[in-house]
Amino acid sequence: MTIQGKKIILATFAVVAFFALYETAKTLLFPRMGVVTSHFITTIVVGIITVFIARYVVRQQMHLLHEREESNQRLRDALTKSGRDENLLRSIVASVAEGLVITGRDSNVLLINDAARTLLHLGQRPVVRLTDISRDPHVHRAFAKVLASGERDETRIEVRGGPAQEKRILRLHAAPLRLHDGQLDGVVGAFIDISKLEMLERVRQEFLSNVSHELRTPLAAITAYTETLLDGGLDDHDNSLRFLHTIHRNAERMRALVSDISELSAIESGAVSLRLERLPLNQLVNDVFSGLLPRASQLGVSLKNQIAEDLYVSADRRRLEQILVNLVDNAIKFNRPGGHVTVNACAADDQHLITVRDTGPGIPPESLPRVFERFYRVDKARSREAGGTGLGLAIVKHLARAHGGEAYVTSEVGAGSEFSIKLPQRTLAGLTELPSAVSETSYAAKL
Ligand code: ADP
Repeated sequence: MTIQGKKIILATFAVVAFFALYETAKTLLFPRMGVVTSHFITTIVVGIITVFIARYVVRQQMHLLHEREESNQRLRDALTKSGRDENLLRSIVASVAEGLVITGRDSNVLLINDAARTLLHLGQRPVVRLTDISRDPHVHRAFAKVLASGERDETRIEVRGGPAQEKRILRLHAAPLRLHDGQLDGVVGAFIDISKLEMLERVRQEFLSNVSHELRTPLAAITAYTETLLDGGLDDHDNSLRFLHTIHRNAERMRALVSDISELSAIESGAVSLRLERLPLNQLVNDVFSGLLPRASQLGVSLKNQIAEDLYVSADRRRLEQILVNLVDNAIKFNRPGGHVTVNACAADDQHLITVRDTGPGIPPESLPRVFERFYRVDKARSREAGGTGLGLAIVKHLARAHGGEAYVTSEVGAGSEFSIKLPQRTLAGLTELPSAVSETSYAAKL
């Protein structure tokens, strides 16, 4: 309970006690007093007491108002003092990235910077009271708590605004503002945008749980088959060979996963430096095809290179190869017997667009925006069966971006998918001649 509240309760008790004493004394001292005289005297006494109480209350309120006005004036003076100090203070407040709001002890807003207006979606509308800034009770509670306790407080709030009504998560740090003699003059509220931080934390947690889930399955298989072999399974030659193959396959899956994870984290953290070269794209695609030909043959898929022989792109050889291997490998895996994978490229504006098209089952429209996410799979069973880690396209996207480009996908269910990589053309002379003649190298699958 506040000191003011306690004072009111005490005063009420005092008034009740006074009247009890007064009535008892009157009856004892003047037992024969007439009713009219008694009421008259009581009215006079009540009147006098009321006047005293009213004077006391009015004085208290005046004192309080005066104190507030003084502290507001101090704050206003401090915030609007003319000369260099004012400019310095205004420029500091305007330049900080955090949204700053300063209120007086009456919760009137004395200062708000542009960052706060942006973060709280206030535009340029006038702000007088704290309620003009936000109606969120957490904000009001934090400011009130600081005023009541003189201690710092912090809270998390969500605001929506803008044309898309997007959600923004803010952390509010409210701190007491003391200008003279440690007296509390107001509250400084700092609003910090933590939307990205929270999103990253969520992504990190999701990633960790995905990684442990992905590792658990092959690890469980390796443990189970090894135990069986140790428990006498080695004596059965045929089965033990089968078990060893399974162990090897699962160990291979774990190796691929660990290698993709470290690769992805290196690219994401910017630890990968690119050595840009002028590369003959047709030849690079042929090299990629050679490596993947056995797999394509096994699945009955033919590979077509439709890139002009004189087309050069500016890229890091190893990284562009990695992009192409991932895309062509997917196009082979997610295809049908007798199907095709076609790689093409064209130059538009200041970019090169490399496309990898397949004749597979395609990707449903609702999955298209998600295929570049880490561990996202349209058909989980098919991907795992094909030995996929679920990280290939995430690596492709990050490598394309590391080159200053982007990765895209379009697809038609039942007809196939087309993955494209946009690479900026570097300005080195002669680096990016346009294709003059299209040559097609076909790799017919050895069925
Ligand atoms: P994975 O290791 O599973 O291939 P990716 O990141 O390379 O992981 O691909 C993610 C998912 O996107 C795949 O599991 C698959 O469902 C889908 N996908 C990728 N490429 C194709 C494609 N060419 N055709 C159909 N689906 C594809």
